[in-house]
Amino acid sequence: MYIFDSSKTPKPEETVGEYLRRLRESANISQQELAEAAGIHLQSLGKLERGLTKRLNSKTKKGLAIALDIPEEFLEAVLNGKSVEGIQKKQFCPHCWKGGTTPDPVWTLSRAKYCLICGNNLLNSCQKCQEPLMSFKHKFCPNCGTPYTKKK
Ligand SMILES: [Zn+2]
Ligand SMILES: [Zn+2]
Repeated sequence: MYIFDSSKTPKPEETVGEYLRRLRESANISQQELAEAAGIHLQSLGKLERGLTKRLNSKTKKGLAIALDIPEEFLEAVLNGKSVEGIQKKQFCPHCWKGGTTPDPVWTLSRAKYCLICGNNLLNSCQKCQEPLMSFKHKFCPNCGTPYTKKK
C-alpha cells in the first residue's frame, strides 16, 4: 500500500525558509546541491532559507517543487500563510488511500480526476450513502459506517 510521506507537508506556523531548510536537511543535501537541482542561484536559496526573501517567482517555485519532490501548492500554501488542509480538495483514491492517514497530494491538490498511482476514479464521498468526506482523519463514513477505502 502506498502512503504519502506526511513529513513533507508544511507545518502550521512554518515560514518558507524554515520549511525549505527542513526539507533540505531531511533529504540530506547541501544548499549548493538543492540550488543546482532547482536551477536557482545559491545566493537566492540562502536568502530564502534565512527568511530574507518571501516571494518566489514561478520558475523558482517549480524548480524547488521538483527538486524537493513536493507539489507547488505546498510552497504556495506556506507563502500565503495558509494551511495545506485549507487548500486541499477532499478527494481520495479508494484503492491507494489508507483511511485515516494523510492523503497523497496528487489527489487533493491537483485538478486530477483519476489516481496517478493506479488510474482509479477519485472519490470525495462515501461510496454507499454519498455523504461527503469531511476529514482525512476518518476511516469510516460517520453517516453509515462504511469504510471509505476498499479492502484489497
Ligand atoms: Zn489509486
Ligand atoms: Zn456513508
